[in-house]
Amino acid sequence: MKARKNVTIGMFLVMGLSFMVLSLNGCTKETTAVPASADSRYKDALLNYTIADTTLTGGLSCIDSLPVESLNESESEALVFMREEELLAHDVYLTLSQLYTKPIFRNITRSEQQHTDAIKTLILKYSLVDPAANHVTGAFSNQDLQTLYNSLVALGSSSLLNALTVGATIEDLDIKDLKDHLLTIDNQDITCVFNNLMRGSRNHLRAFYANIKFTGGTYTPQFITQGEFDAIVNSEHETGLGNCHFN
Ligand code: MN
Ligand code: MN
Repeated sequence: MKARKNVTIGMFLVMGLSFMVLSLNGCTKETTAVPASADSRYKDALLNYTIADTTLTGGLSCIDSLPVESLNESESEALVFMREEELLAHDVYLTLSQLYTKPIFRNITRSEQQHTDAIKTLILKYSLVDPAANHVTGAFSNQDLQTLYNSLVALGSSSLLNALTVGATIEDLDIKDLKDHLLTIDNQDITCVFNNLMRGSRNHLRAFYANIKFTGGTYTPQFITQGEFDAIVNSEHETGLGNCHFN
């Protein structure tokens, strides 16, 4: 199993490096898919979300390299809100990873830590008050997110299939919220980060949906349209290019 995983990771690493050579121009929202969805190694990597282990490099450099621009009100609101929404994802998956052994929960928990950290970096860059400065797992400043957290953990604790559905629900919501916020965001650094977080969410949605199907369930999107959902789950894992990407 270990050797097999290494082969898979090696394959994606080679793919990733060759794409990086092709495009070294930093913060881009271009994406590229990894090949062969029919390949069983790809399926294993998707189900366990080990597929993302090869894209951990890069990270926050785009935030430093892009200019500080004036911040409009919806941008500051978006940063404050998404800082905690990404934390909600992190905390729900962390809690579920303690209830279920499926690796997807702990692997995506790591990814969500990167997401919320990226927004924290933007919050500090723009001297906003961090709503999660003294964060305690499962406790949120935004009361809507607190209510959502409580209900998702309750649902996810009732069965593995419900836990996977909670995962799909969070990603479905994240994609909708990031997309809506992007309509009123024009700063380059925030646009770059939100586009990359949205790509991460599409990958997470693919992985949760693959697990739901594998477990015998179905999922109907609650926030994005059925058309958007189908386009995501019927396409392959996306990897980032350049120096600004998150899983
Ligand atoms: Mn996220
Ligand atoms: Mn996610």
